[in-house]
This record gives sequence, C-alpha cells and structure tokens, in this order.
Amino acid sequence: TLSDVFATFSQRGDTTAFVHRTGVRRYVFTYLDLHALSLRMNRWLADQGVGEGDRVVLWGPNSPWWAVAFWGIVTRGAVAVPVDFMSGAERAEIIAGLTDAKLVIQSRDKLDRLTGRPSVLLEELGFLLEAVEPLATTHRPAPDDMAELIYTSGTTGNPKGVILTHRNLVANILQVNRHIPVVTPDFSFLSLLPLSHMFEQMGGFFTPLYRGAAIVYIRTLKPSAIMEALGEEDIYAIIAVPRLLQLLKGSVERELEAKGLGSIFRWLLKVGERMSRGGRSVLFRPIQRKFGRNFALFVSGGAPLDPEVFRFWNGLGFRVVEGYGLTECSPVLTANTMERQVMGSVGTPLDGVELRLEEGEILARGDNIFPGYFRNEEATRGAFVDGWFRTGDLGELDPDGWLRIKGRSKELIVTGAGVNVYPDEIEAILNRTQGVREGCVIGLDRGKGEEVHGVLILDGSGRPTEEIVNEVNAKFDELHRITSFSVWPEAEFPKTTTLKIRKFQVKERIEQGG
Ligand code: ATP
Repeated sequence: TLSDVFATFSQRGDTTAFVHRTGVRRYVFTYLDLHALSLRMNRWLADQGVGEGDRVVLWGPNSPWWAVAFWGIVTRGAVAVPVDFMSGAERAEIIAGLTDAKLVIQSRDKLDRLTGRPSVLLEELGFLLEAVEPLATTHRPAPDDMAELIYTSGTTGNPKGVILTHRNLVANILQVNRHIPVVTPDFSFLSLLPLSHMFEQMGGFFTPLYRGAAIVYIRTLKPSAIMEALGEEDIYAIIAVPRLLQLLKGSVERELEAKGLGSIFRWLLKVGERMSRGGRSVLFRPIQRKFGRNFALFVSGGAPLDPEVFRFWNGLGFRVVEGYGLTECSPVLTANTMERQVMGSVGTPLDGVELRLEEGEILARGDNIFPGYFRNEEATRGAFVDGWFRTGDLGELDPDGWLRIKGRSKELIVTGAGVNVYPDEIEAILNRTQGVREGCVIGLDRGKGEEVHGVLILDGSGRPTEEIVNEVNAKFDELHRITSFSVWPEAEFPKTTTLKIRKFQVKERIEQGG
C-alpha cells in the first residue's frame, strides 16, 4: 500500500524531499520533515472525524503542503480527491458534492467561494499541525482500499470519477521504476504540471519520492522562470506534456534568433543528426548549459508528441522519453526507455501490463488498472470487456512490441467516403505550418458522414488561411484532407490544465456557427 511507500521516507533522514521556490523565498523540506508532518496530518484528520474511506478534496497548487496533506490522507485510510487548482470553484464544488467530501483542503484565494463543507486552508496546515500530537492513527489501509478518486480532465466533456486503489498506484510505481530505473537520491525533478493530474503525480511525485530524489516546485510556467530554476537547482528531469515542450522550444529558438544565431543553429542541428548523443552534447554545450549542469531528460506524455519537437530536443543532446497512459491506468501503460527512444512510438508495455488490440482499439490489463468509476456502474460496464480495460485509443503494435498511437476512437473522423481520418496527424502538420499559431481538426456531421474541419488560430503574420490549408492538404492524399475550415477568433483554444484542447467545446461553438 502507499503506507509502505510512506514508511521508507523516515529512513531517508535529512535528504531533501522538496524545494519550494515562491519567487522571493526558497523553502527546503527533508524526507524527515515530510514524514513527521504527514503523521501529524494523519492524526489531525482523525481528530476532525475523517475516517477510513472518507473523501477529502485536495484543491491547491503544487507545494510541499499538498504532499503533506496527501500522505496524511492516504495513510489515514481516507481517500484523496485531488482537484485541479486552475479549475474554477464551481468544479471543485461539484466534485466535493459528487464524492460527498468530508473535508475540503483548499488554497487561500478561493476560500470564500466554496461553502457548506468543513474546509481548511492549505497554507495554514503548518500552524495547525504544530499543535498536533505527532502520532498517527494505527489504521493501515488494505491493498484494495480506495486511495484516490480522480475526475478526468474533460477533453471529451464527460468527466468521470476514476477510483484508484493502493494496489493500483503501488503497482504502477514499481512498474515505472523497473522500466526506467535511473532515478537516484542525487536527482532533482522540476515539477510543473498539476499534481491533480495522474501523469505528473506518477512521473514527478511518486517516482522521485519512491527513489529518494528531490522535487522542486515553482510558481509559474513562464519559460524564463523555468530556465532560472533549471540552472539554479541542478535539475535532472522535467515531466512535460508536448505543448510545454513546444513552448520551451519556441523560447530557445526566439532567443537564438534574437542573437542572430538562428541559421547557424539550424545548420548545426543538421550536422548533429549524424553524431552520437555525446557528440551532440559537445556541439550544443553552450545551449545545454542554460539548462543547468545535470539536465538530461524530458519525459513526455498525455498527448501525441510532434516529431519535430522530439527531433529538436533530441538534436540538442537531451533525452526525450515518451510514455502513454490514462488516469484509469494509474496512469502509465507503455514507455520508451533510457536506452532506446523511438520517435513516433510510445514505447513498450511496462512489466505486468498486458496489451491487446481489438478492431484497432487498445485494451489493457494489469494491477495498475482501476476497478471502476465512482458511483457510475453504467460507465464502468462500458469500460471493460472480459476483464480488459478499453482505452478508447486506437493503436498499432509493431512486431517487437512497440506501440504507436493513431488517435482516439472518439475523435476519429469517418468521412462521407467511409475513410478514417486521424485528426492528430493533420494537427501535427498544421502546427508547424507557417502562419499558424495552433490548429485543431474536428469532424462535423453534415448528414452524409463527417466532414474534416480545420480550426485555425493564426499567428498574425497575415498569411491567407486558404494558402495555409492548401499547403497542409498537399501533404495528404485527397481522401484525407481538410474539406472546410474556420478561423478561431481568440488567442487560445479552451484547454485543460495539461494543455489539451477541449475539443468538445470547440466543436460545439463551430457547430453553432460561432
Ligand atoms: P477525458 O478522458 O475526460 O477526455 P483526458 O483524455 O485528458 O480526459 P487523461 O487520462 O488525462 O484524460 O488522458 C489520457 C489520454 O491521453 C489517452 O486516452 C490518450 O488519448 C492520450 N495520451 C496519453 N499519452 C499519449 C501519448 N503519448 N500519445 C498520444 N496520446 C496520448
């Protein structure tokens, strides 16, 4: 159970668990601090009447206090319900209601808006816990007890509560660490994505904590703040979503361009393609240095990684290890390895994960797979077939077991000509076409099958949209092209906090002619 993982923290003594950079200050929490504070948290929850199996909403930004609250909850045998910090109070309120939460732990600015349930401020835990006996309750959760309840991020507009048990989470912690066994106590991770999302929680929280590594939290996602932290904290790895890797790439490129080094850099990237990783590291040492002495690894997942973005970072001599998973799988199913990264593939199944394809859909089985959705039997029934979990993703396995994701079955466009069009493939091209800031491809039902509709956010360069679409279409055969398009008037598509486009919202607006 997670309690067993937690027990190892006390043996790590004064090793750093967290560094919290708040802009002006830098706070350090050792593993002993984490252990002692979480035990007090456990006791404090018991004193508040939070019992085994009770749900506690955890709604706040990434910080050591989030971690203390989390470990206090799960070692108590209660259920953590992490809610995305960036989402509005309405969503937190809805989730508190759906899960019948006993307590809401939340962050300062939002307190006044959430009412009707006992709540406590994340920032005040420090004071509260000082007055508490450092004695945990004796209850120990069982492997099949619920540890967390996570509402999926909602790209498809239908959030469901995913139950994750202690067994599920511990299985995935062990599986990930066996697949990528490189983390040691000397490593530091920079944690940027919300901890309420399983991808960050597994890659940037459980994995480093399980190995005794350090985790650094910063306040913003600004490239300049990220670069500053990388340099000052000797970061080894970042868990990222593709969009973040793309934004960082853009910021490096702009800086080089501003110094008049853009064309030399592009030429060097070409030269570097023929070199070993070591050779590339020497070639790009001045750029690598900006990332600090230890930086080596980007882990990417959560959405398809554009090959151009992979090529860029790989070309600079860093490793980009892509994985694939879903909240329902705790979350990781497959990953590339430190030894081998195959561009365009999400890697091989983790030890103990079984995969199968049925009519192109990826089905999975393993201890990391959730038992069902919370109070939603109908959705649970639909999620499994003969004990196999239906991911809703379409994929291809090559003969040596490497998986490629083709897209989501829900997003697959079946055209009037009966042809399958994968929006991801067109979006990847759109996003790197001159004149486009970001593109999104959806299927519009016009009676006779779906139409492939491109929605574009332009970059302000004034390039005619028609010309852009023609350039993109030239890369596909006639049956797989964009047949209609529109321009999105705002600077951004509606997004989840892991920066995925909320496609159902885009589609709704386009269908309403807006
Ligand atoms: P919702 O289920 O509400 O739409 P969500 O899709 O964001 O929310 P998550 O569990 O966060 O839910 O994301 C899982 C999905 O992300 C997978 O089903 C898959 O479609 C996509 N995904 C994850 N990793 C990759 C990857 N490496 N390449 C392509 N797609 C990926």
